[in-house]
Amino acid sequence: MTYQEIKQEESCYVMNTYGRYPVALEKGKGARLWDVEGKEYIDMASGIGVNCLGYGDWDLVKAVSEQASKLMHVSNLYTTIPMVKTAKTLVIFSGLENGKVFFANSGAEANEGAIKLARKYSFDRYGEGRSKIITLKNSFHGRTVTTLKATGQDKFHQYFFPFTEGFDYAEPGDLEDLKNKADGTACAVMMELVQGEGGVLPLNMEYVQAVERFCRERDLLLIVDEVQTGIGRTGSLFCFQQYKIRPDVVTLAKGLGGGLPIGAVLAAGSCSQVLGPGTHASTFGGSPTVCAAANAVLAKVNDPIFLEKVRSKGDYIRRNILDLHAPAVKAVRGMGLMIGIQVEEGKQGEYVNALMEKGVLALMAGKDTVRLLPPLTITIEEIDQALAAMSQVFGAE
Ligand SMILES: *Cc1c(COP(=O)(O)O)cnc(C)c1O
Repeated sequence: MTYQEIKQEESCYVMNTYGRYPVALEKGKGARLWDVEGKEYIDMASGIGVNCLGYGDWDLVKAVSEQASKLMHVSNLYTTIPMVKTAKTLVIFSGLENGKVFFANSGAEANEGAIKLARKYSFDRYGEGRSKIITLKNSFHGRTVTTLKATGQDKFHQYFFPFTEGFDYAEPGDLEDLKNKADGTACAVMMELVQGEGGVLPLNMEYVQAVERFCRERDLLLIVDEVQTGIGRTGSLFCFQQYKIRPDVVTLAKGLGGGLPIGAVLAAGSCSQVLGPGTHASTFGGSPTVCAAANAVLAKVNDPIFLEKVRSKGDYIRRNILDLHAPAVKAVRGMGLMIGIQVEEGKQGEYVNALMEKGVLALMAGKDTVRLLPPLTITIEEIDQALAAMSQVFGAE
């Protein structure tokens, strides 16, 4: 089928919910992708931070295919070895004492689980009336009716009324604002440490540590949404480790399955017993096949040398973009291989299109940012090829 034929059928049969780029992708290897017409791309998007080991990683493919042929899925009424192993790895390497994991299938679902956990934690201790969750302005937490409302951006609070009540939004970096909003009716604070969809905006470290202290004082649960920042993306297994904090709850998804759908709610000992039998469940969550994928991902990513390379490759990309001295580039932000290139407001889409034209896939974020989330395994050669295209598109001086 040609691209035109595929698009014709897509427009007949697929709901038009995505402003898709005019590309139909067919195969990948490493950080390279090919479309149905044979055009090659360097992938600086990796399925929005999902394909952390790139394409065709043999250990990942082998783990998934072996598990799929052995036992693809069982109900959560039974236990499996891969599921227990993923949970154990996450708990041990998060350092969250007496932590426990619940498995879901996506980031939004992991956040739903965290929201339920926080509300029940408070209900069990204090009864009704303490259910508000403070999130940050400009955040992103998902697309379900509840996580849309948890998202601190007005444009997500349209059409689908009534939304789940019980969220308020604090200005990122403004501790007083958060303290004022977290009154006696609040049970938790939920935040991304680097706002991803909002524009690759890292929070200030002192602010985050002060929020942690405030949460401890008030017995508010601190939920860190690591759906995008987790699993090595920022150069440590979890981003909260670089902020030197101890969250009560961490949510994960995107990179965890290396391309298969998985979400996880990781709760510290302080609240790991809150969700007991019958309070929360998922048919697919933590199936042996997706957990076999997660175990293959964790075996590679959870290695100090691998993580050091993520940090050095991120520094290399940021330094080289700055060294372009391109007038179009206003700032370069981010941590590890989560990178934001700030351009003129409203122009980010034009740059993403121009990069695609030159064979580089990138993402948009916020109102003025080109976002790069390459596979964590990207090579320097692949990076240099992408940088050459960026130099042309951003217009080196
Ligand atoms: C992508 C994302 C989500 C939503 O994840 P889905 O898997 O699309 O439901 C939630 N939070 C953050 C920070 C994200 O980046």
